[in-house]
Amino acid sequence: MVERIKAIEQEALGALGSVNDLTSLDQVRVRYLGKKGLLTELTRFLGSLPEQERPRFGAVLNEVKTKLEGIIKDKKAALENTALGQKLKGDALDITLPGAGVKRGKLHPITQVMDELIDIFQRLGFSIAEGPEIESDYYNFEALNIPPHHPSRDMWSTLWIDADKLLRTHTSPVQIRVMEKQKPPLAVIMPGRVYRRDADITHSPVFHQLEGLLVDQNVTFGDLKGTLTAFLHSVFGKDKKVRFRPSYFPFTEPSAEVDVECVMCEGRGCRTCSNTGWLEILGSGMVDPNVFKYVKCDPEKYTGFAFGMGVERIAMLKFGIDDIRLFYENDMRFLRQF
Ligand SMILES: [Zn+2]
Repeated sequence: MVERIKAIEQEALGALGSVNDLTSLDQVRVRYLGKKGLLTELTRFLGSLPEQERPRFGAVLNEVKTKLEGIIKDKKAALENTALGQKLKGDALDITLPGAGVKRGKLHPITQVMDELIDIFQRLGFSIAEGPEIESDYYNFEALNIPPHHPSRDMWSTLWIDADKLLRTHTSPVQIRVMEKQKPPLAVIMPGRVYRRDADITHSPVFHQLEGLLVDQNVTFGDLKGTLTAFLHSVFGKDKKVRFRPSYFPFTEPSAEVDVECVMCEGRGCRTCSNTGWLEILGSGMVDPNVFKYVKCDPEKYTGFAFGMGVERIAMLKFGIDDIRLFYENDMRFLRQF
């Protein structure tokens, strides 16, 4: 009987020696130690042996079973380890590959220029005010000395919402809103989005303006010239010539356009400046006394000046861009350059 057990043991050890995957290892386990395994069958046979032989037979059988169980357990652990190692090897990351990278965002060129302009005026002592983009006829025109049917209304290609509401055509209505609430002295800039029924390479239906207003006692045209010259020198360089030309705006009297020496040709004349050597940058003037009357500010006591400029135009000149529409196409190849 013991020989029979030993024979089965040798057979099992031989089978285990040639096993090299988990499936065949389990087949060997089932064949010898499973419910109907060869050694399990012998255990059942134990009961039919004479009583004095049972202990010896049982001891040998247990010894062989324990030995085989131990070998199977070790073999299983070793095979699982190898399988895991191979899996890890297959899934391995090549950490030497370059990463996808995250591109850093930037401010839009219009925002960059707007921030720069605001910064210059803040250093000159101006504070910031904002107003609604949907305006009434009163704030956009009437209180700025532009009554209904006045021919100067043709200067703005207005986008109307209804008979009274419109998309503001300039930031000037904010001047009225500021003066209604604040008494002089005041020095305010009003940056914002404005709308006109215009579209070509230098006009966009939506664009940005920066408006300024300074009101106090004894403010003169000399203050206007000094402030705007300092501003233009900050933006375009101290060596640039600045000139003031008489002009007309309904809300200022007298009015002046302000030009700076062409930044492309340094005054010699080129396509950008239409061969004049000058670039028109600002509209400006002394606040018309009629405007003061609308906001109940005494024109005998106070004087002031106002000015306004297109932010896109300054950005185009600074960056050498010849088509305003590029700013709104959201083409990342264009925007990443600034
Ligand atoms: Zn030029």
